[in-house]
Amino acid sequence: MSVTAHSVWKNCLSFIEDNIQPQAFKTWFLPIKPVRLAENSLSIQVPSKFFYEWLEEHYVKLLKVALTKELGKNAKLIYIIKMEQRDGSDEGMTEKIPSANRSALVPQELDVPITAKDPELKNPFVIPGIRNIKIDSQLNTNYSFENFLEGDSNRLARSAGIAVANKPGGTSFNPLLVYGGVGLGKTHLAHAIGVEIKEKYPDKTVLYISAEKFTQQYIESVKKNTRNDFIHFYQLIDVLIIDDVQFLSGKSGTQDVFFHIFNHLHQNGKQVILTSDKAPVDMQDFEQRLLSRFKWGLSAELQTPDYETRVSILKNKLYRDGVEMPDDIIDYVARQIKTNIRELEGAIISLIAQSSFNKREITLELAQGIVEKFVKNTKREVSIDYIQKIVSDYFDMDVATLQSKTRKRHIVQARQLAMFFAKKYTKASLASIGSQIGKRDHATVLHACKTVDNLAETDKQFRKYIEDLNKKFT
Ligand code: ADP
Ligand code: MG
Repeated sequence: MSVTAHSVWKNCLSFIEDNIQPQAFKTWFLPIKPVRLAENSLSIQVPSKFFYEWLEEHYVKLLKVALTKELGKNAKLIYIIKMEQRDGSDEGMTEKIPSANRSALVPQELDVPITAKDPELKNPFVIPGIRNIKIDSQLNTNYSFENFLEGDSNRLARSAGIAVANKPGGTSFNPLLVYGGVGLGKTHLAHAIGVEIKEKYPDKTVLYISAEKFTQQYIESVKKNTRNDFIHFYQLIDVLIIDDVQFLSGKSGTQDVFFHIFNHLHQNGKQVILTSDKAPVDMQDFEQRLLSRFKWGLSAELQTPDYETRVSILKNKLYRDGVEMPDDIIDYVARQIKTNIRELEGAIISLIAQSSFNKREITLELAQGIVEKFVKNTKREVSIDYIQKIVSDYFDMDVATLQSKTRKRHIVQARQLAMFFAKKYTKASLASIGSQIGKRDHATVLHACKTVDNLAETDKQFRKYIEDLNKKFT
């Protein structure tokens, strides 16, 4: 009998089954599909990123033993994360190598470009000239408007998104730029707009792409001397969604090509949707002419969700997963995790997994243990950029003002507070804090920290500022 992905995986499964609880086996191993076998590496397809992370965290040893038994010492496991697609095709895959295998097995980071899997459908470079081609939208239909819950923090961006979806290219929101911090829903909203447009206008060519992939494709096209085909391909698109454009910062070649594509699309009434982790005014190393285009349409911010929105996001998630959870636990999670919806979801997913897995009831205690891990992670994520943004928002000024050379008292105080919190919540050196907050030297930062300490003692109003701001960072 010849060795195939299926036969190898079948043997692995029977070994794994003998070594873990039946329920765990059913939950975490049966949904896996063996996809291909090439020499020593077996590719398996898992249903989600969460699934992959769970396997990595809990079963990597077991997997390694099983696989080594089958394929020898150099065995390698490649995860393929399947994104749900309505038509059930295998699009939107990414491949990951399990981290534990990095030590014993061959280390390698793989990210398959969207062009690699099925050149017929996805290679942007094979179809010059033909109008009616089917371009895979790369949309994730799990991200819909329906499950993008509305709150004060996202109302503007969400409604603008809906308006654009109703009339792509036909509103003044062109481009629509959605910006906001990590995990606040930019990618979700970007997909939702695309998905909705596809539903309303099936004939429109929609493409979702990360700025990173766009850049890779561009570089590739330069190498292969197919730059014109690259541009041509993008000019065929009716609705172009580029995620995380801040990635283009400093990449003048890619900015330049994007500028031309943008102009072409815009002139022809095509819709452009962009997301970024910063507002256009705060984007650095961008060509001015590109930034000015970004401002032509609407820039809408996704802010951190308030408590009510956090609760409804959690409840909606639980409802969709068919899980019941006591209100006091939902309340607890929503109160603890404030700045990042991805972490909010992560905590609740862990909670569900832990409880169903260990057949434990979900108690406040269990929740506390899990949430603590997430909150610790959040704390580590506070960056100097983020601190400056929070402090300037709080004083109703923009970051440029906070950094400016002015001696106006309230601006100086805001700047000193930003320095103080940067010292408190990041590991950055005084010099590095100074250079990031308006190019000051380390002595200025030191002086700022002392001043804040002093004022905290003597000035009641100032103490209130510190307390308010502190809450936003913890
Ligand atoms: P970003 O791209 O800004 O880093 P994502 O779009 O990846 O953030 O969102 C992180 C997670 O939070 C996703 O799972 C997304 O579905 C969820 N999420 C974000 N905003 C909302 C919302 N308003 N309602 C429901 N879920 C949301
Ligand atoms: Mg994103």
